[in-house]
Amino acid sequence: MKKAVAYLLPYIEASKTETKAKGKVLMATVKGDVHDIGKNIVGVVLGCNNYEIIDLGVMVPAEKILEVAKKEKVDVIGLSGLITPSLDEMVHVAKEMEREGFTIPLLIGGATTSKVHTAVKIEQNYKKGQTVYVLDASRSVTVVSSLLSDDKEKFIREVQEDFSRVRENYANKKDFKSYLSLEDARKNKFKIDWKKNAPVAPKFLGVKTFENYNLSELREYIDWTPFFHTWELRGKYPTILSDANMGTEATKLFNDANQMLEQVIAENWIQAKGVIGIWPANTVNDDDIEIYADESRSKILHTQFGMRQQLKKTAGAVNECVSDFVAPKNSGISDYVGGFVVTAGLGIEKKLAEFEADHNDYNSILLKALADRLAEAFAERMHERVRQEFYGYEKAPLSKDELIAEKYKGIRPAPGYPANPDHTEKPGLFKILDATKNTGVTLTDSMAMMPASSVSGWYFAHPESHYFGVGKITEEQVQSLAKRKGIDVDVMKRWLSSNLE
Ligand code: SAH
Repeated sequence: MKKAVAYLLPYIEASKTETKAKGKVLMATVKGDVHDIGKNIVGVVLGCNNYEIIDLGVMVPAEKILEVAKKEKVDVIGLSGLITPSLDEMVHVAKEMEREGFTIPLLIGGATTSKVHTAVKIEQNYKKGQTVYVLDASRSVTVVSSLLSDDKEKFIREVQEDFSRVRENYANKKDFKSYLSLEDARKNKFKIDWKKNAPVAPKFLGVKTFENYNLSELREYIDWTPFFHTWELRGKYPTILSDANMGTEATKLFNDANQMLEQVIAENWIQAKGVIGIWPANTVNDDDIEIYADESRSKILHTQFGMRQQLKKTAGAVNECVSDFVAPKNSGISDYVGGFVVTAGLGIEKKLAEFEADHNDYNSILLKALADRLAEAFAERMHERVRQEFYGYEKAPLSKDELIAEKYKGIRPAPGYPANPDHTEKPGLFKILDATKNTGVTLTDSMAMMPASSVSGWYFAHPESHYFGVGKITEEQVQSLAKRKGIDVDVMKRWLSSNLE
């Protein structure tokens, strides 16, 4: 039997052969996280290979996972997650498995997970059973069958040796890294000549909402390449459609997707809502951005706290923070920032329930993947409108290819992502946009957005602003952030654990 997910489609459509299950696998997206496409694909692939799947869905607390695992006597537990706080939740599940004396294998997968994190943070906490990092659904069958086979010892030894090597490399690299103090990092910030390259005053200030946004308009802004990646067809659109290996499957998937999209639009399967805001703003204390109620700049609506790169770099390289892209208060220059929350997942449950009642995994995954694409397309379209209409600094529209290649001036960094990895900055953004009321999007315990097909971010307009990654920071900066934000240091540390050595 073919085992790669490039061949997933025929699998999903083939009816399952009625043989005795080869083993029971419990699958769950961890507490606080709502993303489940990857997990669902793994479930389908394993199911088609005659494993019995117990899928607990999304936002599943550790206690529930362990309780069902015991009751159902499962052979393997598989955890999935997409946002960085889920990494910590997975560590917690591993510790609980150890504490409760589990010995079954633990599989780790999902967009934010990595072999390094699994080796360094998870495996070490669960010694009674083997933890395995599974990059792709296509690998999951081989991994599970190896773990449940008679000569599993050999496979486990290989995994352990691999993880030891990964930990060693990680430790060696760590020794070579050195960090600047926060003060020195700030001195080495990204400098903009504000006199020469002054901020543009936006055409619109305040908050603007968009109800039932036109899905046909958004469809034109879909970036299809990530859609194929979701299905583990790793190529670039549109050439993937004629690829020698993947072309046939990719074309079929693309046709199915467009057919469904027609129905989604014609029959209003989902609704899109969005909110944007643009406010006067200035940077204070180098790293923080004060956002003001109006042009008098006397009332602070919100302060956005920034994280700054601290890794000591080669000569000439700077230590950046997103606040570097906004004029400092003491410069006397008027600057502005924007923010947005958009969703294309409202009302999706109704159709999903229909598909699930029909056991139509393919349509269920397809619809979720399309809703994700429409949400990203909404973010792209809204950003374009902000540049052209609301902020109004973009003179000529860019082509769709240029949009996908991020050739536009200004950026829309998402909180929780590399340029501003602190997820606890999301509630502030939501508050000044009144985003939950205006869009129906809520935040989970881990700051994941619900519905899952939602995107949020800040707008920085300055032509020199760009995406970057904060990377690892020191304890000193965590303490500083905790103090500036009025959050307990240990709580802050937990939220930023991905950015600490
Ligand atoms: N065309 C893609 C766009 C999504 S990925 C798609 O349809 O999937 C690009 C987005 O991720 C950016 O617009 C930005 O919001 C976010 N992003 C990328 N790099 C980032 C970084 N370093 N820090 C913060 N956000 C980032």
